[in-house]
Amino acid sequence: MLTVNAYAAPSATEPLVKTTIERRDVGPKDVLIEIRYAGICHSDIHTVRGEWGPISYPQVVGHEIVGYVTEVGSEVSLHQVGDKVGVGCMVNSCRECENCLAGNEQYCLNGNTGTYAAVDVDGTITQGGYSTHVVVVEDFVLKVPDSIPFEKAAPLLCAGITTYSPLAHWNAGPGKKVAVVGMGGLGHMAVKIAHAMGAEVTVLSQSLSKQEDGLRLGADHYYATNDPATFETLANSFDLIINSVSAKIDINAYLALLRFEGTLVSVGAPPEPLPVQVFTLFNNRRSFAGSSIGSIRETQEMLDFCAEHGIAPETELVAADAINEAYERVLASDVRYRFVIDIATLA
Ligand SMILES: [Zn+2]
Ligand SMILES: [Zn+2]
Repeated sequence: MLTVNAYAAPSATEPLVKTTIERRDVGPKDVLIEIRYAGICHSDIHTVRGEWGPISYPQVVGHEIVGYVTEVGSEVSLHQVGDKVGVGCMVNSCRECENCLAGNEQYCLNGNTGTYAAVDVDGTITQGGYSTHVVVVEDFVLKVPDSIPFEKAAPLLCAGITTYSPLAHWNAGPGKKVAVVGMGGLGHMAVKIAHAMGAEVTVLSQSLSKQEDGLRLGADHYYATNDPATFETLANSFDLIINSVSAKIDINAYLALLRFEGTLVSVGAPPEPLPVQVFTLFNNRRSFAGSSIGSIRETQEMLDFCAEHGIAPETELVAADAINEAYERVLASDVRYRFVIDIATLA
């Protein structure tokens, strides 16, 4: 076992603190990664605070991880020492169910193994990326192209793939009108990716406070949802709406913005149900869908796509001892648009 530095939550109510955790020995198919950068995702905060259900403590979170391979197991064939690699929201799956066999391991019917707060194959609880090293089975390790600035790459592993997957699945591209609800960590990536795919992109944000950013990042149009006229102007307009908001919104008002056979996909996760007026779906034969991260194959495709199109998240680099402060700023929506922890400050 390897004892490594980490930043962990001691309980649901205390700030995260510097500590050490154990990483398993590198098995035949494992890769040891020296972590360089880890993104701060809103899910990290929900998880450590027990808002998505009880967890065991201490818990290290972080599922937007990039670093260098420093050791490989005897049977590893996909990665070599020195490679720039990434790890996202999952580190394993059953590999036997219908969805895994079809290459959709994010939808593993036996539950994929989350990068943190999940039960690993050896019965231990997985610990995430706010640490100096992690051991991951090689098939769940991604290659990070050199042209993506390394200190900005980490958020692609959650925010990037979570928005890329539905945009690709529902064919965002030339001639398609795509709306992005919410201009946060997920939303700003949806804007960049949809624009690079060739779609006409509209941001639907609460106010116009981030309009300048939205247009700079690739949006063609920007509307405030606190102005009721927005919903009249844009009725029956969009082929695809990506809802990145994790608070409860009036979903019917947004469904009414879909044109014929349009789809609204939720990637944000409000804790309470969203009541849908079915008549709104009858009109224009609309669909209301959900999407969860992306497969490993698709995550690699996304990284390569971002490299090819020069896309990287907008980030603010913080030291490990600023994680608690960063959490408060995430909760106050005071980040443009993703915090990334410089793991060198944890060494
Ligand atoms: Zn996340
Ligand atoms: Zn499975």
